[in-house]
Amino acid sequence: MPSLRVYNAIVLTMVSGDEPISPAELVSADGQIEYVGPQRADIEESYDETIDAGGGVLLPGLVNAHTHLAMTLMRGYADDMPLQEWLTTKIWPTEAKLQEQDVYWGAMLGILEMLRAGITCFCDMYHFFNAGTRAAIDGGIRALPSGVLLSFADKIYNVEQAVEFALEVRKNAPSRIVPMLGPHAPYSCTDEMLRQAAAAAAEHGLGIHIHLSETADEVQQVLDATGMRPVAYLDKLGLLDNHVTAAHCVHVDDAELEMLADKQVGIVHCPTSNMKLASGFAPVLKMLAAGACVGLGTDGAASNNRLDMLQEARMAALEHKAHSGDPGVVKAEEALRMATVGSARAVGLGDRVGMLQVGKRADFTMISLQEAHNQPLHNLYSQLVYAAEAADVVCTAVDGVVLYRDGVYPHLDAKHIIARANECAHRLVNS
Ligand SMILES: [Zn+2]
Repeated sequence: MPSLRVYNAIVLTMVSGDEPISPAELVSADGQIEYVGPQRADIEESYDETIDAGGGVLLPGLVNAHTHLAMTLMRGYADDMPLQEWLTTKIWPTEAKLQEQDVYWGAMLGILEMLRAGITCFCDMYHFFNAGTRAAIDGGIRALPSGVLLSFADKIYNVEQAVEFALEVRKNAPSRIVPMLGPHAPYSCTDEMLRQAAAAAAEHGLGIHIHLSETADEVQQVLDATGMRPVAYLDKLGLLDNHVTAAHCVHVDDAELEMLADKQVGIVHCPTSNMKLASGFAPVLKMLAAGACVGLGTDGAASNNRLDMLQEARMAALEHKAHSGDPGVVKAEEALRMATVGSARAVGLGDRVGMLQVGKRADFTMISLQEAHNQPLHNLYSQLVYAAEAADVVCTAVDGVVLYRDGVYPHLDAKHIIARANECAHRLVNS
């Protein structure tokens, strides 16, 4: 990996207590941050690449802690429906026709979109785990892929195969690819499958990515079937003794919240998806007050319909103000913290990414605040969360490698990817 220096920037480290630094610079070598701080006057070293940030804001790459990346192919295909009807009449029948190449090109399309939006890492759960993983490797992005485990779908692999794939990826893929196990949800997996996944995760040190209590109906389903609420049920199966990334957690009661905080489960709040599917309002204020680990995710593009973490930060800030009647909750800084360091911790990568700090991986994004909608600049956090948009991102890098800059993807053929993804999408919905 080349050495890189970005200078003439406003740096937002997202380290707790750090003020914005300006003018500032960041230096990376071998994909790792070697210096971040006030701009130095005399630089003797030379770098493979030097970038003048032009006064742009340099911040940690945004981490999309819950998505189903290849669902970009179904963006706008079925909207304005309740979750179960949406899944059973539209999404699952279409997914039954998926082929490996669909997942690859759908994921590549998602990677283009995410890099353009300043996202450097995503936590994924989907079919054809190998194709999604290959896309992440080819796209240069950091990823935590998992193959979705469902008890009722026959073309999908079992826990044993999922573990085998995950171990193979861990052995052969670049270290920025961190495989997980992906049991879909407590209501869609048998207890045997959940128990096996929990045991395999513990044996091999794999994280678990799962949907948890997204809708009131599914909570009732688990209660009816097991006599327990979903969090207690997962705990009984031993699942929560692993690192768990739990998407949604909309319908969790106070006792469940306490357990999630106690077990340091990574909660992924997906405000846009929850609002679009009318799943409810996640008790984020209580989560934060309980000291739970809370990150943000877009969920799949079919239920969002964007992969835009600045949007999620804004939605998180707005949703809980509107819902609580208190404009002082989920402040801009807190929302941006959830999209960076919160998400990084929620997916189990808090030691590597989420903050700009010496020793962490050089995953960053740069946002220009020069356009009219970002002027004047009074407060950086407010500007980024309430005024800026994905289109203001001018540069995105992973492991110190620039993957997007000023409209160009140096390592990807965007036109080709978009064309292939469109072919796959049209075949899927028209066949
Ligand atoms: Zn999801």
